[in-house]
Amino acid sequence: MRKNIVAGNWKMNKTLQEGLALAQELNDALKGKSVNCDVVIGTPFIHLASVAQAIDTDKIGVAAENCADKAEGAYTGEVSAKMVASTGAKYVILGHSERRAYYGETSEILTDKVNLALENGLTPIFCIGEVKEEREAGKHFEVVEEQIKSALFGLSSEDFAKLVLAYEPVWAIGTGLTATSDQAEEIHAHIRGFIAGKYGEEIAENCTILYGGSCNAGNAKDLFSRPNVDGGLIGGASLAVDKFMPIIEAF
Ligand code: PEP
Repeated sequence: MRKNIVAGNWKMNKTLQEGLALAQELNDALKGKSVNCDVVIGTPFIHLASVAQAIDTDKIGVAAENCADKAEGAYTGEVSAKMVASTGAKYVILGHSERRAYYGETSEILTDKVNLALENGLTPIFCIGEVKEEREAGKHFEVVEEQIKSALFGLSSEDFAKLVLAYEPVWAIGTGLTATSDQAEEIHAHIRGFIAGKYGEEIAENCTILYGGSCNAGNAKDLFSRPNVDGGLIGGASLAVDKFMPIIEAF
């Protein structure tokens, strides 16, 4: 079934102590509250195990922000999907535009990461989205289609059904510019239709598609009210509980 999810992406922020304090504060804020979405926090690798132990992981899922494209071995500095899963994390953010742009992550690499994540029981939160020039040239539909097709369409239906997608227009990430809810709805519906063309209506209908890009307390309600927007991937506003909670409560 399609889930509503609000997921934070801390990126490269917070020391271990600061991250633990933030996770515990969010855990306390959610205690005794019933919310209408699943809540996830994406943290740097160093936080995963401590955060997973410090919070109620039935209420807050923990996500890594990346994993290696290799299973194990002599890959100094890398962290495997199996290692991520051993911390208690249940999700992994893959294909974020910052990793594509700064670390050269290609669709080929991302396919390997997705497969390893799935083999280790992690739910990939797979990011797609166009840059400003592509949007201005009216190419955003074909860009996201190509990102999905090249990295994900080799998956079986059973595996594809385990993914969460996050549409994140690169021009909206960390810029304060947000896609309008009309723009988000239009492309989310398009993405769902594209998935239906390959995997059928049922899998497409059940696929959670998050919006990411300067989502905040002021715009979350409008974005989440649209039928094809199933929640958000939240960067900056996930770094403080008083900014993140209103987004969770927008559902
Ligand atoms: C992100 O990096 O996934 C993101 C959506 O960031 P921000 O909310 O800060 O735009």
